[in-house]
Amino acid sequence: MTALVDVRGLVKHYEIGGGGLFGLGAKPLLKAVDGVSLSINAGETLGLVGESGCGKSTLGRLLIRLLPPTSGAVIFEGQDLTALDGAELKQVRRAMGVVFQDPFGALDPRMTVDAIVREPLLIHGENTDQKNTGEKNTGPGRVAAMLERVGLPASAARRYPHEFSGGQRQRIGIARALILEPRFLVCDEPVSALDVSVQAGIVNLLQDLQAQLGVAMLFIAHDLGVVRHISDRVAVMYLGRVVEQADKRTLYARPMHPYTQALIASVPALSPIGRAERRARR
Ligand code: ADP
Ligand code: MG
Repeated sequence: MTALVDVRGLVKHYEIGGGGLFGLGAKPLLKAVDGVSLSINAGETLGLVGESGCGKSTLGRLLIRLLPPTSGAVIFEGQDLTALDGAELKQVRRAMGVVFQDPFGALDPRMTVDAIVREPLLIHGENTDQKNTGEKNTGPGRVAAMLERVGLPASAARRYPHEFSGGQRQRIGIARALILEPRFLVCDEPVSALDVSVQAGIVNLLQDLQAQLGVAMLFIAHDLGVVRHISDRVAVMYLGRVVEQADKRTLYARPMHPYTQALIASVPALSPIGRAERRARR
């Protein structure tokens, strides 16, 4: 079976600083992503975990070609994204969605929720509500139906992002990311900026939508606890590299890499020591 997304030897280096005296020396390189290979199958959820600054967001952006790589390849449905641009890239990107960490910064405050969720349809020439040509008619209900799917009332369409809470805004972001029915969705720490009390609701929503729509997902988090339920497999990233990758059960039960073991130990509910301590305290 060929993977939906196949990543081979992916590298993203940034030149930083002046580079020696008078800027004449070689510029120092920041190796944000330093040789990552992984694959994601259709309809599968891969959790990507690692501490802040290890390269998760850079990797996520490379996968949907929001960033060009320094070297390596991202093969999506058999096509090398790194070789595409212009109309071809736009066509492929239509099958991809992204949910960002910050639901406050990600939504244009001057646009209504309807305009925010509808925009991808306009960009890809699918919005025929006004033209009413019939051919690709998506119907006036498409945005309303998507809002309902993410747990918002249809009346939310007329309102503006500032009228909503963080969790509700993230639901708007999810509606926008899914309106084109993508086959691949990157969720970059979608609950990290949210109040703990609403995090589970958003994770459950993403899990339900993933199952209903059959969309493959890269779910990024800095904590192994968050990705536990939602992931089929988990990749652990450390200093620009994937140090361990396994199906969920294996990874949590028998972590091989010391860094993975440390990550598990840092989540009290996941750690055998944490469990024993809690039992002892009872
Ligand atoms: P994470 O999402 O895991 O916190 P990032 O992918 O955002 O990590 O960043 C990885 C590393 O790359 C960090 O050291 C960050 O400072 C650096 N980095 C990210 N974007 C840029 C950029 N545009 N220019 C220079 N360095 C960057
Ligand atoms: Mg990040």
